[in-house]
Amino acid sequence: MSQEPICVACGKAMRAELNGIFAVYKDRKGNCEEGIMCDKWRCYVCGYEILSGFAQDFICKYGQEEWFDQFVKGKEKAGEVVYWSRD
Ligand SMILES: [Zn+2]
Repeated sequence: MSQEPICVACGKAMRAELNGIFAVYKDRKGNCEEGIMCDKWRCYVCGYEILSGFAQDFICKYGQEEWFDQFVKGKEKAGEVVYWSRD
């Protein structure tokens, strides 16, 4: 069995489009809480994109590491940050 996500609409295995994208979690107030490395997958038929393949642990809690802001800004410039929340 393959490890790739499968697009439900198209019935096709997705392709890893970007390894090492940084997913930054924002709380209900919109504050950055923590960030984690993962992969962006894309359905080559319909273009649907998802994040999967998350690292084992959160790389960083916001405000705990001095390098966090700079790291996120660098990733942002490269188009490699996705902000997400549960609301
Ligand atoms: Zn699709």
